[in-house]
Amino acid sequence: MIKSVVVLGGGSAGFLAAISIKSKNPHLSVRILRSPDIGIIGVGEGTTIAFPRFLQGYLHVPLREFFQVAEPTFKLGIKFLWGPRREFYYTFAKEYEARLTGLSKPIGFYHDHDTQWIGALSALMAHDKAFVRNADGTPNLSLPHGYHIENEKLVGWLESHARKVGVEIGDANVAGVETGPVRTSGREEKGVTALVLADGQRVTADLFVDASGFRSELLGKALGEAYQSFEKSLFCDRAVIGGWERTDEVVKPYTTVETMDHGWAWQIEHADFINRGYVYSGAHVDDETARQELLRKNPKIPAERTRVVRYRSGRRARTWIGNVVGVGNSVGFVEPLEATSLGVIALECVMLADTLAETIGEPGPMIVDIFNKHNGKAWDDIRDFLAVHYAFNTRLDTPFWKDCREKTDLAGAAPMVEWFRENGPSTLVKGILMPESNSFGFEGYLAMFVGQKLQYPKERKPAAKEVELWRKYVAKFGEQSRTALSVMDTLRAVHGPAWNVKAAAR
Ligand SMILES: Cc1cc2nc3c(=O)[nH]c(=O)nc-3n(C[C@H](O)[C@H](O)[C@H](O)COP(=O)(O)OP(=O)(O)OC[C@H]3O[C@@H](n4cnc5c(N)ncnc54)[C@H](O)[C@@H]3O)c2cc1C
Repeated sequence: MIKSVVVLGGGSAGFLAAISIKSKNPHLSVRILRSPDIGIIGVGEGTTIAFPRFLQGYLHVPLREFFQVAEPTFKLGIKFLWGPRREFYYTFAKEYEARLTGLSKPIGFYHDHDTQWIGALSALMAHDKAFVRNADGTPNLSLPHGYHIENEKLVGWLESHARKVGVEIGDANVAGVETGPVRTSGREEKGVTALVLADGQRVTADLFVDASGFRSELLGKALGEAYQSFEKSLFCDRAVIGGWERTDEVVKPYTTVETMDHGWAWQIEHADFINRGYVYSGAHVDDETARQELLRKNPKIPAERTRVVRYRSGRRARTWIGNVVGVGNSVGFVEPLEATSLGVIALECVMLADTLAETIGEPGPMIVDIFNKHNGKAWDDIRDFLAVHYAFNTRLDTPFWKDCREKTDLAGAAPMVEWFRENGPSTLVKGILMPESNSFGFEGYLAMFVGQKLQYPKERKPAAKEVELWRKYVAKFGEQSRTALSVMDTLRAVHGPAWNVKAAAR
């Protein structure tokens, strides 16, 4: 029976795993070991809707304190400077697959070249607004949203919260790992028997969580779990990161992703800082040329404040082996084009913490196999979805983008592409062609296909009379957003003394 857990790593993955396990299994001893010499990755600043839901709905963190210490801002989705349109929005609401009274087809069919927004959330985004108001004027935070949040601030807050829920935290360098047969998941398998610290101390536990980031000390190095690369679908392998102190720029309620010569760049909005990062392919451009492009297009970035991060896209074949469970970058990584890592971490944490609770610390082989399959699928789904971002972006004709259009392996996204080319943004086979568990769902694919103007038969387009009614809806969405609150209005409200968490979410 599992009674003690050691988490290797004190980045966001390690702390979230430790907090989840301890909160749902208070009887377990949970200890984090992390190396101040190695530090944390220090990037990872956008989330999907899954992350606030996890913090509030699963961990029930004190929201006011979280807002004050971790200082997130609010994100309604992504603005794409991508494909032939000037821009398009992909929100956390279901806008492309929604239907409106009087219109015979899902909204995706009506998004012509002239429409800038197609629903309530994209209209808010287009007007730099974040939330509509409750009757008392406060922001209605029940609208679907994610966060922009600085990695160091998030980890700082997680550390203090972890201590409060009873997680023990130690600074140490793990210099070696002892392996041997274990029977933690109901069958004998190779596992970890002890961590050996730099001072020679041996640390044992019933379960080890590998949250050691890209180093993957346990899953990768010690247990040698196979790595499945996503390089056939995702060609980028590094990012140059920079940013500047905000002066008079409006805090946008979205992440901007912009097509660049050899990849793409994010713009993430913190209250006092604008963070930019250019994700590119080392096979198409060298680091210095990429850095110069980022600086040229963002003259406010101080040249001395850029840094390059290298990565590879892919995942370990299994996440849980014997008495080792991986969480975060130690298991898998894809570039943050949809800002998905914290969402996957949340998924891993929920499943692990609930498994320990429900099996009373004695997980059997079947739950471990399902855990592995489910987590692997989550990573593969993200790869598939990102592949359609690359394969159909016609904005630039540089060698990188030509290669993307010609060579991107669509992998599991191929049936969705085929469906769209034949039927346009139809939702007829929603839930059949793609399981509801896919985190982007039909909506995500429709957003990327319609947004990038992937072609489908003309005769499926709506009649002129319907388009007239559609324009009225568009005008109404725009009108509603004019009186809504901006990100800064919302921050002032949630940091103010009178803010009532429960009332705001109604
Ligand atoms: C360029 C880039 C942009 C990103 N953008 C986003 C984004 O917008 N949204 C998003 O959700 N995610 C994003 N991510 C991913 C995100 O940063 C991570 O998924 C997340 O922060 C989790 O990191 P981690 O905890 O797994 O790893 P890390 O933060 O690297 O933590 C690893 C921990 O392990 C410890 N450790 C490692 N080896 C040892 C050892 N031998 N002994 C002791 N301790 C050890 C380290 O000290 C550290 O505490 C991005 C990543 C990159 C590279």
